Amino acid sequence: MYIEKILQSIKEYDTIIIHRHVRPDPDAYGSQAGLREIIKQTFPVKNVYVVGEEDPSLNFLVRMDTINDSTYNDALVIVCDTANAARIDDDRYNKGDKLIKIDHHPNVDEYGDIMWVDTSASSTSEMIYEFYIHTKEAGFKMNDEAARLLYGGIVGDTGRFLFPSTTTKTFQYAAELVAYNFDRVQLYDGIYSIQGNIARLRGYILQNFKLTESGMSTIRLTKEILNEYDVKPIETGQLVGVLGDIEGIKAWVIFIEEDDLIRVRLRSKGPVVNTIAAKYDGGGHPMASGASVYTWEETEQVISDLDEACRSFIK
Ligand code: AMP
Repeated sequence: MYIEKILQSIKEYDTIIIHRHVRPDPDAYGSQAGLREIIKQTFPVKNVYVVGEEDPSLNFLVRMDTINDSTYNDALVIVCDTANAARIDDDRYNKGDKLIKIDHHPNVDEYGDIMWVDTSASSTSEMIYEFYIHTKEAGFKMNDEAARLLYGGIVGDTGRFLFPSTTTKTFQYAAELVAYNFDRVQLYDGIYSIQGNIARLRGYILQNFKLTESGMSTIRLTKEILNEYDVKPIETGQLVGVLGDIEGIKAWVIFIEEDDLIRVRLRSKGPVVNTIAAKYDGGGHPMASGASVYTWEETEQVISDLDEACRSFIK
């Protein structure tokens, strides 16, 4: 059993470094730092680090550590919430002695000495709580901070328990997590409060999205638009779901122009979109995935693929 192997590895190593994916979200931070808390609470003398580039909008969850390359000597490295090695934040992840992957995305890239992948989990944070449930008899311990981080990760990846990935297990774990002592209102504020410029760009999206008769919606956020609203590409994560409630939309794509590429963010309420993302060297979940393209002509091709997926989708 993977959990048993992970437990043994954690026991064996004095230094453990936990990574997650680039352009992090609450589940990436929550699973990474929630696992750190559980390990520290259980083994106070172990050195456990969380690494990766910080996203300032997630500083309320936890701050990242800065470590030297030499810290990786004889270390256990655990990567949370990252389907493919190319998306691991901080490419020193393979400098350790042993590598573990813990993730809930389809296992498209089988990296690591031990892999625990569960696509039925709503989030990697849910998996980390499950890890605790299976290891508590062996002495593993939770604390309030781990509960806050894991709950935040679950809330983030389930869209506040709204997405179909939310299961009875998710609710059960969430109920157990809220029994710990942390400020839930403050946590929701951290995840969902948005700055005025982002709110205005949300208004732009709602005013300008296009909806086809096939049930597909598209929006292009060019550099000019982003400059006009003073929003950085990395800040658009809070805007991707905004079209989800509009009647008649089966799937949508938001294109975000960055310095040297155009980020493709696909979301769906039925048609599978990760196969489209994969065609452009991307990936993700069947209903939420992403990729990068390099020209506006390529975005036309993505739109045509999404239109086709919407047309052939039968409920
Ligand atoms: P995002 O639109 O960035 O929130 O991504 C949605 C989902 O798609 C996440 O679960 C990511 O893991 C996945 N994803 C986004 N971009 C890529 C990419 N370039 N390659 C692989 N997976 C991606």
